[in-house]
Amino acid sequence: MSRVSGCFCVCLIVFAFLPFSVAQTNSSSSGQLSVHWEELTASDFRDGIHRSQGTCLLPFGILEKHGPHLPLGTDLLDVRYASLHAAEQEYAVVFPEYYFGQIAEAKHEPGTMAYSRSLQMALLQETTDEMARNGCKKILIVNGHGGNDSLLPYFCQTQLDKPHDYVVYFFDERTPQHGGPERTDKLDMHAGQSETSKMMIARPDLVHQDRASNESGADQKRSKLPEDVYTGIWWYTRFPNHYSGDGSIANKELGKYQMDWWIASVVKAIKAVKGDDVSLKMQNEFYEKSTHPLDTQP
Ligand SMILES: [Zn+2]
Repeated sequence: MSRVSGCFCVCLIVFAFLPFSVAQTNSSSSGQLSVHWEELTASDFRDGIHRSQGTCLLPFGILEKHGPHLPLGTDLLDVRYASLHAAEQEYAVVFPEYYFGQIAEAKHEPGTMAYSRSLQMALLQETTDEMARNGCKKILIVNGHGGNDSLLPYFCQTQLDKPHDYVVYFFDERTPQHGGPERTDKLDMHAGQSETSKMMIARPDLVHQDRASNESGADQKRSKLPEDVYTGIWWYTRFPNHYSGDGSIANKELGKYQMDWWIASVVKAIKAVKGDDVSLKMQNEFYEKSTHPLDTQP
């Protein structure tokens, strides 16, 4: 799902240092270096880490049904399109395809890969640990999947439980609230007008818009709970077809506006992360204090 929500929060991990000067790179030009981790040679990877000032992106997607008309990998394809274009404007090394997130609510649909909660956390921790061991001391998770929007802040919070020598940042915006061509889809949460429009930019060959009305993306309104009472089955209760909104009214103009906005927003986030000289210091201070809390004074 691709719910419009989220925040740009800094997740504090502890005990860190940057092993190289942050002033030694030209961050506004990618030169000849690919932004794709997997395309770099070992020595080019070293150059890439220096050029990016240790800033790496982890675009996070999922494999799940997207209505009757979009591919299973929609979130991954879209978030990688936005992240790769952003990194080309503001150099960062981009981790390969990552889709090991939270999607239990789509297990009744074909093609869903729903890893267990313990594996989701363990794999993500080992991934960021390994990225950091390779010089990614600032890791920006760019989330493309609304179903991750509880998992990822929780992952960030749990980074404080023991020392790490790197900082994890989380960016979770995908759709502008205002501006651009009009959005007429009232729901527009999953495989609806916005998401379908963005796929028309990222991978137009995979959009089957003629099938978008074959199933209903309407809210089935089967829940009797008030809005402030949460339960995990809420999504299935409202949207059993794993479709929320109307992809048939998608258009390229809207997709271009939203994708350009998304790319520009990720560029801004990369710049903010590169310029952040506070979080690592705070992590170290916090960790040191947390080893002797009785000495902490107001
Ligand atoms: Zn989606």
